[in-house]
Amino acid sequence: MKKYQVVILGAGAGGLSSASRLLKSGIKDIAIIDHADQHAYQPAWPLVGSGEEKKTRTVKSMSRVIPKAIDHIQQRVTRIQPVERKVYLDNDDFIMYEYLVVALGIQLDFQEIEGLEATLGRNGVTTNYLYDYTDYTYELLKQTKAGNVIITKPKSVIKGGVAPENTLFTFDEFIRDQKDNKAHLIFKSGKDTLFPVEKYRRYMEKHLNNKHIEYQLNQELIKVDGDKKEATFKEWATGETYTLPFSMIVVTPPMSAPDVVKSSTLSDEQGWLDVNPFTLQHVRHQNVFGIGDCTNLPTIKMGAAVRKQMPVLVSNLLSQIKGKQLKAHYDGSTACPIATEYGQAFIAEFGYDMKPKESMPIDQGKTNPLLYQVKKRGIPLMYWNALLKGKA
Ligand SMILES: Cc1cc2nc3c(=O)[nH]c(=O)nc-3n(C[C@H](O)[C@H](O)[C@H](O)COP(=O)(O)OP(=O)(O)OC[C@H]3O[C@@H](n4cnc5c(N)ncnc54)[C@H](O)[C@@H]3O)c2cc1C
Repeated sequence: MKKYQVVILGAGAGGLSSASRLLKSGIKDIAIIDHADQHAYQPAWPLVGSGEEKKTRTVKSMSRVIPKAIDHIQQRVTRIQPVERKVYLDNDDFIMYEYLVVALGIQLDFQEIEGLEATLGRNGVTTNYLYDYTDYTYELLKQTKAGNVIITKPKSVIKGGVAPENTLFTFDEFIRDQKDNKAHLIFKSGKDTLFPVEKYRRYMEKHLNNKHIEYQLNQELIKVDGDKKEATFKEWATGETYTLPFSMIVVTPPMSAPDVVKSSTLSDEQGWLDVNPFTLQHVRHQNVFGIGDCTNLPTIKMGAAVRKQMPVLVSNLLSQIKGKQLKAHYDGSTACPIATEYGQAFIAEFGYDMKPKESMPIDQGKTNPLLYQVKKRGIPLMYWNALLKGKA
């Protein structure tokens, strides 16, 4: 059994950036627990699926990104016991902590869609939500010359909230640019709106209409038959189901809190890590903090949100350690870059009040080649060289 002053669960965007910042702030006794041997820059995966990025450029080994002074315990967390201040691992060992940061990300529930797991990566069925299939998405796009190309989005909360729309717009341009291509692009979203912020919803609608892209809301993918190349949807409003043939389908799966959070006493009624939305401190355990996709923070789950949460978390955790009042506040800031074609993007940026809160001195709701470059080149550079090193 080992004990650390700070234990961080998950070496993704939230866990790693918090670990680096805590280390720089003078906390030396830190362990980070993550079974993965690679860290991924996931926002680039839709770019891989559209042929704009190489898959291998989106990952680095954990040993390259975790600071040497931090212990990486390469195990899966199986149980969290906050009263005993213990975390159990899948080798049956446990680790004790004084302070805990939970940064376990979100769970992909592919199993919720009947038949999907059996055919994923074959028969024209793909996803940009798993590293392994991102390049298969682009292979399929290049091969497909006719039939339905379906892009799906579930009703559930997801990470990278507009990843399906990024794929949709670039696919539209790719297909239209080929004179002999008769493929028919369709967007099926389980959501009841195109975007939760009115200004950007209008822009999204305008682009879809101007490009004559077929889209339907309140449509949930519930079954995939890979051999028959058929997808079944449920219409949320009526409960009715119907089946469509496809040549290719890009699935964004339903998502939920990680099981290990759901089954712990740290969760809220929906299973998310129950934190104060402003201080990021757990609502019942003062020595526990949370960041990123596994939390119940009512904002869109993005790396951009993690970037704004991390300094707040670290500042408040340090105050908690020193017995001081928690003064740093997170306002729900998040940002969603949306490529409306290859080389053009807009960036929706807003807070808990769902009102635009743009950080650049231009109208970020209007498409712009500069915003595309910010998405494709600028943000990844900032991610690897600043955020993961604890600089927000
Ligand atoms: C396709 C796609 C497109 C996206 N597009 C954008 C975008 O354009 N802009 C943007 O800002 N964000 C985007 N995102 C979202 C962004 O990647 C996430 O919001 C961000 O990574 C959240 O950070 P996190 O630390 O909460 O979770 P993650 O970065 O996912 O890290 C979670 C970590 O926890 C580990 N873990 C999980 N369970 C366990 C366990 N039981 N034991 C030990 N370790 C565990 C995982 O291995 C992982 O390393 C996108 C994501 C995807 C997948």
